[in-house]
Amino acid sequence: AAKDGGRGRHHFYADDLHSAAEERTKLENDLRDAIAAGDLELYYQPQVNTKTEQISGFEALVRWKHATQGWLSPEKFIPVAEDTGLITALGEWAIRTACHDLARWPDNLRCAVNVSPLQFANPNLPTVVTNAIAQAGIAPGRLELEITESVFLNDSDNTDAMFASLKRIGVRLALDDFGTGYSSLGYLKTAPFDKIKIDKSFISGATEPGNRNGAIIAAITSLAEALDMDTTAEGVETLDELELVNSLGCSHVQGYIYARPLSAQATLTRIGEGLDAHAVGPKSHRAPR
Ligand code: C2E
Ligand code: MG
Ligand code: MG
Ligand code: MG
Repeated sequence: AAKDGGRGRHHFYADDLHSAAEERTKLENDLRDAIAAGDLELYYQPQVNTKTEQISGFEALVRWKHATQGWLSPEKFIPVAEDTGLITALGEWAIRTACHDLARWPDNLRCAVNVSPLQFANPNLPTVVTNAIAQAGIAPGRLELEITESVFLNDSDNTDAMFASLKRIGVRLALDDFGTGYSSLGYLKTAPFDKIKIDKSFISGATEPGNRNGAIIAAITSLAEALDMDTTAEGVETLDELELVNSLGCSHVQGYIYARPLSAQATLTRIGEGLDAHAVGPKSHRAPR
């Protein structure tokens, strides 16, 4: 259709746009139904302390098996949830579910939950967190909220007030995907983070000769150490990468080298086997997803 000049071309793109919008509306409706029907699941990926080689906690990651399209990536449906406001319901569900599951794990384990920018801007968030913690009967310090740099684009008075409320509750705060966002270092002066998560884009390629990622990882870990924050290297897949991030001083590692995200049931089984972490390489120990 694009061949026959202006008119055909116009129609070609208009149809394309139309179906993309339709697809998005369908995804939105299906997601609303899935939340209401309880069709979403949380999977948990181990986070390993590099000094002790013990599992210190897990990150909760949402999973959705769509009736006709199969497993959909959160990279696809979280942005839709964010744009349509569905993230409020999804996020509350995630916090409540993670606290509920966390109550069944040993007391020395933590759980991290992702909090999107829209959730973070919602004044109701501290109440949601307080209620979830109380209902599950867990110590607040076992819950860690992962936030990305994009929250600093919003009204800074509200952002500061939200940080203060969450710290008062006693939850931990992690800065997710560090280095990929707006990366003004100014907010590190005051924002009360307990942990910086180094984005996996800095890990992949870091072991190749001449690659600069290692220097960046080293700089982030020394910065974090000086600020008394932990560092988690995200997306570590190979033994070479594991050795590198260990030598560069990352305090924690999360990646397929240890485990893929596990269902709640598989997580309990894994915990039952003990908290010793085993680097297994990228191909073995595959969870269903
Ligand atoms: P994230 O918070 O940065 O989570 C880490 C992502 O890296 C996860 O992708 C995880 O499965 C993946 N990953 C972990 N280890 C490796 C590895 O060794 N190699 C590779 N290639 N990937 C690894 P996932 O589960 O697809 O989630 C994608 C993003 O969706 C998350 O990134 C987070 O931003 C968002 N998300 C997931 N669950 C939730 C949720 O409950 N609420 C919100 N607001 N966002 C969520
Ligand atoms: Mg995260
Ligand atoms: Mg991340
Ligand atoms: Mg990410």
